[in-house]
Amino acid sequence: MPAKGDDESPTATKVSSKGQVYPAGRIDALFSAIDARRDALVETTVGLLKIPTFNPPGNNYLEICDHILARLRPAGFECIKLRAEDAPGDSEATPRWNIIARREGARPGPCVHFNGHTDIVALGEGWTKDPFGADIEGDRIYGRGSCDMKGGLAAAIIAAEAFIEICPDFAGAIEISGTADEETGGFGGVAWLAEKGYFSPNKVDHVIIPEPLNKDRICLGHRGVWWAEIETKGHIAHGSMPFLGDCAVRHMGAVLAEMEEKLFPALGMRQTAMPVVPPPARQSTLNINAIHGGLAEPEDGYTGFPSALVPDRCVITIDRRYLIEEDPADVKAEIDTLMRRVQQQRDGFEYEIRDLFEVHPIMTSAESPIAATVATAIEAVLGDRPEFVVSPGTYDQKHIDRIGRLRNCIAYGPGILELAHQPDEWVGISDMMDSAKVMAHALMGLLADRDQ
Ligand SMILES: [Zn+2]
Repeated sequence: MPAKGDDESPTATKVSSKGQVYPAGRIDALFSAIDARRDALVETTVGLLKIPTFNPPGNNYLEICDHILARLRPAGFECIKLRAEDAPGDSEATPRWNIIARREGARPGPCVHFNGHTDIVALGEGWTKDPFGADIEGDRIYGRGSCDMKGGLAAAIIAAEAFIEICPDFAGAIEISGTADEETGGFGGVAWLAEKGYFSPNKVDHVIIPEPLNKDRICLGHRGVWWAEIETKGHIAHGSMPFLGDCAVRHMGAVLAEMEEKLFPALGMRQTAMPVVPPPARQSTLNINAIHGGLAEPEDGYTGFPSALVPDRCVITIDRRYLIEEDPADVKAEIDTLMRRVQQQRDGFEYEIRDLFEVHPIMTSAESPIAATVATAIEAVLGDRPEFVVSPGTYDQKHIDRIGRLRNCIAYGPGILELAHQPDEWVGISDMMDSAKVMAHALMGLLADRDQ
């Protein structure tokens, strides 16, 4: 918290991120307006948590958009709901609904946009709390999506409302969006909206994505990602005479052995200057997401035995995360070279590499207007300069950058990164309150002190 004494003198002033001067009382009033909304913040978070928006398949997107609309329209936001009808996964059963809420200021100026994804991932094992009960224990609210990222979305809503109350004369506009599908790539959410121009620099000037990166850190971007399938090919035969066939699983075994021996050590040597957190992610990594070969696993309840077959195909899905210092073409060529090496050692070995998708690494400058403004706000609220970090995985900033061509975007929000997607996920109420103050302070820096 900032030193209280500074603001109590009627002549005290504060310097904004742009070197302009605020009337000091206004910041105190802003923080008090957020303190007064603690219950509203909890209620908003709880309301969002009680709607199970599992993705996949993409449940209850319309319900959560309507819930956000009912929350924001009375606060003076104009709301539009948009369905990404042509997006992957959209159907009558699971329509991809998004909402954009916009509050105009008193005069022209820039638009600050808060973007929160509304979808959540599967529960997994290990829950001891009700994932949709939104139980409150001490400073924590438990529930799937509390940390990632309904708590962040609630904090942005409270920040905007408090700011509008204290600075009704603000310039420009505030937008808050609730978007679909982030957890499966964002194609029915931010990517779709960006295609339609909702994240273009002529519409939006500053974007904050309140993903859970911890309240004292600003996330500037992410590593690159390349997903691909690698298939080894064999020849089917009776399992009692494997010499008449060609086992695709053994070929894949050789591929994996080559990866263990050569690829993984080489990736581990490659370090980035990007401030990725956690630090072990400051290197190139590769995960083997899945492996399938031979007969499919039997259906639940099947009690018979498998048949005797030499597998004629084996497929792995790889998830290669790469660094801003790496050329994406080299990343792919490295895998192809590895496969060719294996090919030279094995008779009749054939393979195929199929691209699934790729996202290039991005990193907004720490000096960009939004990063610098939020850094100033964090210092004002928490008393320390923030840490600038980069995410190990991608998030919706990729679409705002590549499709929207809007570089002035960061992720900043409450919630502890490591709790995302875990059982008994929770978000801290005091962390949300502090983050809301940071967001509101940033709004003041970007919208309130213009032309004054
Ligand atoms: Zn998230």
